[in-house]
Amino acid sequence: MATSKKDAFYRYHAARLRLPEDKLRPIYDDELDGKKKPDDPFEVPDKMDVFFKYSYGGQSRFFREIFHHERLLGAKCPACGKVYCPPRSVCPRCYEKTEWVNLPGTGKVVAFTIQHYSTSAFVKKVPFLVAYVQLDGADFLMMANIEMDDVTKAKPGMPVKVAYRPEKSGSITDIYFEPLAD
Ligand SMILES: [Zn+2]
Repeated sequence: MATSKKDAFYRYHAARLRLPEDKLRPIYDDELDGKKKPDDPFEVPDKMDVFFKYSYGGQSRFFREIFHHERLLGAKCPACGKVYCPPRSVCPRCYEKTEWVNLPGTGKVVAFTIQHYSTSAFVKKVPFLVAYVQLDGADFLMMANIEMDDVTKAKPGMPVKVAYRPEKSGSITDIYFEPLAD
């Protein structure tokens, strides 16, 4: 196909699909250059936008309390007394339905790694810590982000407390931890 016709094809689909032409060219050049066999699948550019509602199911109250009230909940097994945070609807040891309990939101860092690179969601936060936190009132470690001014001062055993982002999205990233001022 003539270059001008190819350019027009890519211009049309790039505008229609709101994609850069560079994304389309490697996929469709063979077709436009006549390199496909007559019975090969004839493929044209298209795009699917998927909108859906994600349900937290049995963990809904945990996320709702963070979102509306800035409260941290755990899930306590009435049989063995273990407290899970992040919560579990059912205790995996006893198969009993858990009950909600308030947690103070404080804890201690057990282990951590310092992140200097991140996905776009957290790139403005680097460097930050990804840590396992032993929450007060809970029996299991919670993986969490810890934000602090000087990450070189982080150490195992460091006391931390939960913090809530002012603008919440309804996800676990609405909370993070910061060093507990003494
Ligand atoms: Zn249990």
